[in-house]
Amino acid sequence: MTGADHEPAGEYDHDVVVIGGGPAGSTVGIFTARYGLDTLVFDRGRSSIRRCAHLKNYPGFPAGIDIETFYGLLHDHIREGGCTLREDLVESVTAFETPAAGGFVVDPQDGEQVTARRVVAATRYDGEYLWPLDADGEMVATSAEDGDKTEQFKKDYPNADGSTPIEGLYVATPSGADEQAIIAAGRGGVTARTLLRDHRRASGIPETLADHYDWVRQRAELDEEWHDRETWREYLDDRVEEATGEQWNVATRESEIDRILASYIDDDEIANRRERGQDRLLEHVDNDRVLARAREIEAARDADTERDNGGGD
Ligand SMILES: Cc1cc2nc3c(=O)[nH]c(=O)nc-3n(C[C@H](O)[C@H](O)[C@H](O)COP(=O)(O)OP(=O)(O)OC[C@H]3O[C@@H](n4cnc5c(N)ncnc54)[C@H](O)[C@@H]3O)c2cc1C
Repeated sequence: MTGADHEPAGEYDHDVVVIGGGPAGSTVGIFTARYGLDTLVFDRGRSSIRRCAHLKNYPGFPAGIDIETFYGLLHDHIREGGCTLREDLVESVTAFETPAAGGFVVDPQDGEQVTARRVVAATRYDGEYLWPLDADGEMVATSAEDGDKTEQFKKDYPNADGSTPIEGLYVATPSGADEQAIIAAGRGGVTARTLLRDHRRASGIPETLADHYDWVRQRAELDEEWHDRETWREYLDDRVEEATGEQWNVATRESEIDRILASYIDDDEIANRRERGQDRLLEHVDNDRVLARAREIEAARDADTERDNGGGD
């Protein structure tokens, strides 16, 4: 995807900082970086997924997947998607005091502090680093058992779409949807889409189009007339006018058309991506397993050839 309508990071170091690189945070980062937003993911500290013995219920892995391989795939994907990954623990998030207002300062344990336009929390076990933002005490639930006072992040603090009462702050997890890895990943996707919808609106994309992006489509499905930008211009203008009664910015429309056209790929590109995708998967499988499987395949092929040549009669 292009970052054609990319809102300049300006006074911020990053457009988006994601705290947590587990299933939820990796999904957030993949979505926001694919859109072209400068995304930094912090990942260190207490992890739910690393306590799991073997992941059996995440679709796409018929015999399950070991956590080390799963984690390697997640982190490879967030880097490949365009994020920067920092293995550091976030200790606090505070408001960034600028004349323009908005944005955050993120303080990690070891590295330099960074600023970001938007921050996403994605740490199932922990939300304490957000408490400096909690002027009204809305994030924290306090309980006392046997005289011991404990404080926990309120799982119902974020809205169902991952937004929060604080502009620019999103919470994927902790939330009511982090009990299973696939659900946490889905929650990351929902939260990223909320963030991207906000970003797209701020970039001048009309509300009616704000949620439509990031499908990769087959060029063969595109009728000839839709190869012509003019068809897209008319279609998008009509949709916007119908919804708002207004016209929209021409440069924004053209960049949206670039984005749409780039999402259609031809058969050669589909084949290239298939090959590259499978090569990348192989990188995550133990070499001994790859070699053992290759030998089995070779032996089966040799047996086929021998049979075809009439061998064994
Ligand atoms: C024992 C056990 C077994 C489980 N088994 C299964 C199972 O079989 N199937 C299943 O679907 N689910 C299972 N789960 C649940 C699953 O682990 C969670 O649903 C899922 O991992 C939640 O994803 P998350 O990204 O929100 O959080 P996490 O998996 O906790 O990931 C958060 C990441 O953020 C990092 N982090 C934390 N704090 C900070 C910070 N301050 N700064 C920077 N980084 C930080 C952590 O190191 C971690 O990598 C199990 C959980 C446990 C505890």
